[in-house]
Amino acid sequence: MFAAASNALLRALLAPTCAVCDRPLTTPLDGPMCDTCVNGVRVMAPPLCRRCGDQRPAYADDHLCVRCRRGERAAVGLARSAGVYDGTLRDMIHALKYRRRRMIAPWLAERMRRDGAEVLEGADAVIPVPLHAWRLWQRGFNQADDLARGLRLPVWRALRRHRGGPPQAGLPAARREANARGAYALCRRARLRPRAWNRLRGATVVLVDDVMTTGATLNACARVLREAGVADVRALTAARAVAAPPPPPRR
Ligand SMILES: [Zn+2]
Ligand SMILES: [Zn+2]
Repeated sequence: MFAAASNALLRALLAPTCAVCDRPLTTPLDGPMCDTCVNGVRVMAPPLCRRCGDQRPAYADDHLCVRCRRGERAAVGLARSAGVYDGTLRDMIHALKYRRRRMIAPWLAERMRRDGAEVLEGADAVIPVPLHAWRLWQRGFNQADDLARGLRLPVWRALRRHRGGPPQAGLPAARREANARGAYALCRRARLRPRAWNRLRGATVVLVDDVMTTGATLNACARVLREAGVADVRALTAARAVAAPPPPPRR
């Protein structure tokens, strides 16, 4: 009753609209997005790869996807994502990144906490995947940092992206690995301050990013952290690019 009245009052006073599709919100107290957008998020459909969380065909009996069997993404111990990077979830991430709708980040972080509980369990801290300083200046914020702050664990900003390079989003899968390798390093503070450095040793940390595509970025970051002595590097992203499903078998 009180919520209904409050929602009506908010609607009358502020006429809030959905942060993604801009339609009027009927229950603004429930969050920054309309029901259509919220219900449009597609979660990862099992069976998932035990290690990296990719969707995999049901017939593979070792519970690993092709990439993990080939040893790609080897520096990341366990990875999960809150949903599939298409449709509404892609619109949400675009609204967050390119239209600065930062109120979407805490909502996504809640989803990540729910669907990535296994990854967050027992972790000492979350580490956002950094943006290059130039891109950070252009955008004004790092969406990965916004997501990391919603995960209710200490946030260690231990990494920096020291080489500009083209954004991963514009590259074919084959070039992403080479582009990501060597682009990340420990940030100066982690290198110079013994306390910051020491806490990495033996720690369990979770890398946080908005989208995982081939996993090359996360793997590059994880390698830097492992070289710094981190015992277990996991990864949690809001979304994951999923390959188109194979065509149905012919009858
Ligand atoms: Zn909407
Ligand atoms: Zn896998």
